[in-house]
Amino acid sequence: MNYCPECGGPVARQVPSGDDRPRDVCTSCHRIHYQNPKLVVGALPEWRDRILLCRRAIAPRADYWTLPAGYLENGETAAEGAQRETREEAGAHVTDLAPFGLFDLPHVNQIYLMFRGRLTSPALAPGPESHAAALFTEAEIPWNRLAFTVIEDTLKCYFADRTRGRFTLHTGRIAPGRWVDRAPP
Ligand code: ZN
Repeated sequence: MNYCPECGGPVARQVPSGDDRPRDVCTSCHRIHYQNPKLVVGALPEWRDRILLCRRAIAPRADYWTLPAGYLENGETAAEGAQRETREEAGAHVTDLAPFGLFDLPHVNQIYLMFRGRLTSPALAPGPESHAAALFTEAEIPWNRLAFTVIEDTLKCYFADRTRGRFTLHTGRIAPGRWVDRAPP
């Protein structure tokens, strides 16, 4: 941040008094502009024995498959955000949402909260952020064409739970970039 979004004054990186780390501080109005991790909300939409995936139309990781997910917006609940992302990316409605995964990604300052949910219809209509949306059985999941490690881990946890017949809340820290070595689709 170079200029203060409040007054337009120049911003300096400094440790405010009583704080323990550098912040963006306006040298004119002295506001402190804190930056904190963002919450990404997403869905694991089920239709019978299939899971909805979307093929990304946008960077990063265009053309790779992902679960519907995106930044939570102001004024909505986490579950509403997961429903909105499913609607925007796949044109689908997911209901009966239950928290399934809470994953820390401190290397990119994000937390993912993934909900398991049920599609009300198998009809899909991918939006501008998706090249395609489709329903996959476990055997059909394109494991080497998934967009992000957190999506791969979410799906692995899901199928492991489904196999043993009991779903629980999964938590964990996602390490950076296991996917970077993969060949493009
Ligand atoms: Zn200012």
